[in-house]
Order: sequence, then C-alpha cells, then structure tokens
Amino acid sequence: MAKFSCHCGYVIDLVESPAKEEFQLIPERLLESLWSGIADGTVTESVFFDSIRDQGGRAVIECPNCARLWVQNALDGGSFNYAPFVREADVINGTYFPPDVAE
Ligand SMILES: [Zn+2]
Repeated sequence: MAKFSCHCGYVIDLVESPAKEEFQLIPERLLESLWSGIADGTVTESVFFDSIRDQGGRAVIECPNCARLWVQNALDGGSFNYAPFVREADVINGTYFPPDVAE
C-alpha cells in the first residue's frame, strides 16, 4: 500500500513500511502462543509475522491529522479494506468535528 486517503482529506504516506502510522491488532491468544514459540525456539521471525497476518491479525492505520483509526476488516482481509473509527469520547464531548462539516 503506497498511500491511504483518510476521510478528513489527509493522505497518509505508507511507502516506507512500516510507517509510523501503521499498527497491528493481534488476538491475545495468538500473541501468547507466539511468545511461547519464541521462548522455546519453535517460532522464527517469518513464522511470527506470517502467523499474525494469517491468524486474525489486523492492520491499523492512525491518521495523524484527525486521530481517526482505520482497522482492516477481518472478513476478507483485503489490504485496502478498512473501517474508520473515531474516539467516542470526542463525539460525546463535542470535541470531534468531522473536517467535512467543520468551519
Ligand atoms: Zn484523518
């Protein structure tokens, strides 16, 4: 993925990977299983990253402009298929204004 356009209009440059805006959401059970494998020497670096990708890990992108999180959909795992999330507290407190309606 080279560039990612956020709803706020900010374009996130993901050419250099991993970019500082990229994160991984990893199932706790998988993480603990991989950690055990690392500890006993059965999980290599490539197995570690392949397992995260193939066993439920989801890529997350954080927009540095609006703090919106984009979480990769688990259903198809498509690298460009992300769902946006904003912080509920910001919406409830009235401190979040979508850029397309803010003045
Ligand atoms: Zn944004």
